[in-house]
Amino acid sequence: MEKTFAIIKPDAVERNLIGKILERIEGNGFRIVAMKRVLLTLPIAQGFYHVHKERPFFKDLTEYMCTGPVVLLVFEKEGAIKAWRELMGATNPADADAGTIRKDFAIDLEKNSVHGSDARDTAAFEISYFFSQTEILS
Ligand code: ATP
Ligand code: MG
Repeated sequence: MEKTFAIIKPDAVERNLIGKILERIEGNGFRIVAMKRVLLTLPIAQGFYHVHKERPFFKDLTEYMCTGPVVLLVFEKEGAIKAWRELMGATNPADADAGTIRKDFAIDLEKNSVHGSDARDTAAFEISYFFSQTEILS
């Protein structure tokens, strides 16, 4: 079964949206196989977003991700990576389709409520960045 990695970002945790987002995840047929609520440190956020380190938004993004607790998740279903990207919606909520999480909950391009892996290799990296094998229970 394909696994993907997700984050419920600080803007959503702060607004008490964890339950509503988990409901969308489970309601769309994903099985949650690992989950924890943590406060990221700047070095950990920078390592996680290393692919974006040359982007102009890198500093703001990594600092924002440390402004409050986040929820880290691994969940699975057939085609989970693409299915979760579709359920999240476009990066900028202004461009997101109706019924997507970002359309319904996100504040702006940066505070866009959720993260999702974009491919098999990034999903594998992101899962192992935050979870050990013994924490993932299918
Ligand atoms: P994510 O990786 O969080 O799932 P994504 O793959 O849709 O989102 P990326 O291009 O990987 O988007 O950007 C990572 C994150 O950086 C975005 O989710 C958003 O929070 C932030 N971001 C992206 N582009 C910008 C921008 N132009 N200005 C500010 N923040 C941005
Ligand atoms: Mg991305």
